[in-house]
Amino acid sequence: MVQRPTLLIVDDEQSIREFIHEIFKDQYDILQAADGTDALVMLESEETIDVVLLDIMMPGLDGFEVLEILQSNPHLAHLRVIMLSAKSDVDSKVRAFAAGAVDFVNKPFEVGELAARLNTQARLSRADAELKQAKSDAESANRAKSEFLANMSHEIRTPLNAIIGMSELLTTTPLDVTQRDYVDIIETSGNALLFLINDILDYSKIEAGMLELHPLRFVLQECVQGALDLVKNKAWEKQLRLTVELDPSLPHEFVGDDHRLRQIIVNLVSNAVKFTERGSIALALTGQEASSSPALLGGATAAGGLEAERVYRLVLTVRDTGVGIPREAQSRLFQKFTQVDASTTRRYGGTGLGLAICRRLSELMGGSIDVESAGVPGLGSTFRCTWSMPAVRQGQATESGSDSVSCGRALVVEDRAVRDPAVTPALDLDPPTDPPPRLRILLAEDNPINQMVALKLLKHLGLQADIVNNGAEAVAAVRQNVYDVILMDVQMPELDGISASRQIRQLPPSHRQPRIIALTANATADDRQACLDAGMNDFATKPIRMEKLVELLHQGAFGDPVRSA
Ligand code: ADP
Repeated sequence: MVQRPTLLIVDDEQSIREFIHEIFKDQYDILQAADGTDALVMLESEETIDVVLLDIMMPGLDGFEVLEILQSNPHLAHLRVIMLSAKSDVDSKVRAFAAGAVDFVNKPFEVGELAARLNTQARLSRADAELKQAKSDAESANRAKSEFLANMSHEIRTPLNAIIGMSELLTTTPLDVTQRDYVDIIETSGNALLFLINDILDYSKIEAGMLELHPLRFVLQECVQGALDLVKNKAWEKQLRLTVELDPSLPHEFVGDDHRLRQIIVNLVSNAVKFTERGSIALALTGQEASSSPALLGGATAAGGLEAERVYRLVLTVRDTGVGIPREAQSRLFQKFTQVDASTTRRYGGTGLGLAICRRLSELMGGSIDVESAGVPGLGSTFRCTWSMPAVRQGQATESGSDSVSCGRALVVEDRAVRDPAVTPALDLDPPTDPPPRLRILLAEDNPINQMVALKLLKHLGLQADIVNNGAEAVAAVRQNVYDVILMDVQMPELDGISASRQIRQLPPSHRQPRIIALTANATADDRQACLDAGMNDFATKPIRMEKLVELLHQGAFGDPVRSA
């Protein structure tokens, strides 16, 4: 049944209120108020009022004042108020509309006219309410979708962990050429899937407004190098020349989210490789000092615990000699799920999320991204990404003791620009030349496959571990034995890794405190912070890789101080 609209009559003359009530009682649910204050109280408490008939001249608050108060309250500003007044001068009407009234009827009124005007406003009020409801439904559906995507990505990561980890282990066993090829394919596909899932997770966070930057002090050159290390093999496989030019006058260290910066570089260079069949890919990073921005400096100081001095405007260009992008498609590229055309998707694959993520990241860093292309195959495309970042103040010693402010040299990738694909090096999976020392390790992980992957990786490093299946068992194990390191899954039944770590950190001093490394499929910054807040020392995203494991175990051996407890 359709509900009747509700009408509030505000007039100090009871006879007028009663008269209007009589006329409209069959069509409306009617409320009455004898003055402005009463009306405001009713409007605050009644959420379903559709139309207000408001007298102007009343004792206490007059109609204009009531309107002003309504307008200043975000919950009430949308109300449809019709002024009903003996004042018929133009000024009063203009003033009423300016104050937010939607209509003006003079007293004495024609019943038919007032009925028609009320009807119109009641209809509009209902339409407003429906729109509002639809908007809120759409927003919650969008939120549910983002949550679903985030959960799915999480769920998919767990079995992927096993696939990638196991194929990595397989390559350490004796294999014939065909078997090695098969394993390579499993591993490449696993990694591609992981990239995809990370993109979906990022995009769902962007949509939910939850993507944040985590600025820390970093070396610019290492960030660029790290990004290129991830993509250079693909370029070499296609015999593409890959060159890098890093402006030598740029400071050595900056304060920013180097992880996200690397992500932008990897995305742009991977695209360039993907869409270029022959020729070259040239990356250039330049920049100059911009006027300092207090906001940026403030953020950087808080995040990095550093006094950053100068803000730089940095410009990254990635130029390729590939298929190019038609002009009409260029502006669309940075929207999510957008690709130049469907045949591109079939030929090259991809989700169309990479550039949308790059755009959002560069915006978060106070910059932008654009593309230039003549749209002619062979002439290629140039992507240009800008952002702002504070440099670390000259003279603040780096970890290595250097206070140099200049990169001073080009990156090394260009030396090996063109390679014979036959000699492209395989992933570095040989046993590490520098194996971690004997450590007493506890692995807390509920998933048997993940347990096996971790144990095998450890075995490959000549290490063993005790295994427990949940956080409660982990706490009990630490009470009984001495461990140097705990590899702690975060999501476990009974007691999760975070609560377990908290309990371990609260054990009496007679228990030796191990390093706790969180192993989690959750990759969000909040999760990382939650781990550190609980007293964990480090954090590794599953699937854990051999290289990362070695790095983490080495840190344990050298007594890396507890970062946050
Ligand atoms: P994906 O590559 O996963 O499809 P992106 O958002 O990274 O998603 O790119 C969107 C589209 O932009 C690509 O599908 C492609 O059509 C086009 N594109 C991106 N980079 C290049 C490039 N360097 N050369 C030609 N086309 C490109």
